[in-house]
Amino acid sequence: MGKLTNFKRSIWVFHASGGSCNACDIEIVAVLTPRYDVERFGIKLVGSPRHADVLLVTGAIPRDFADKLRRVYEQMPDPKAVVVVGNCGTSGGVFYDSYNIAGPIDEIIPVDVYVPGCPPRPEAIIDGVVKAWLKIEKLEKELEGKKE
Ligand code: SF4
Repeated sequence: MGKLTNFKRSIWVFHASGGSCNACDIEIVAVLTPRYDVERFGIKLVGSPRHADVLLVTGAIPRDFADKLRRVYEQMPDPKAVVVVGNCGTSGGVFYDSYNIAGPIDEIIPVDVYVPGCPPRPEAIIDGVVKAWLKIEKLEKELEGKKE
């Protein structure tokens, strides 16, 4: 894995829950609790995709949520990254052959990082966000290079 070269700014994360059973979502909440307290590293959960750098998505996506998820993704400013948390979003998980599932998340929006598990541990979720942070740093450097 690459290394974060700077902490010029914090990273803001928006969480979208699709057809999740809620266990992945509870683990995301756990990373904010005092045991992990990711806000001390500048990782902050925000209430609008318009403010977010990283989109965390959980669950296999139901058909009626697919368009909404696309709209959430499109509202995020560039550069941005998407992290799928859990097996359901990665492959459909236990819901893979359900009649009402639009598919794994990467069939709906581009995905940068997969965090497997049912549910994944908080440490794995933090690792996934750091990988997304590395990607955003790389994209920012490319954008800065284009400006020169
Ligand atoms: S991956 Fe497991 S814990 Fe996460 S939403 Fe699916 S069934 Fe629930």
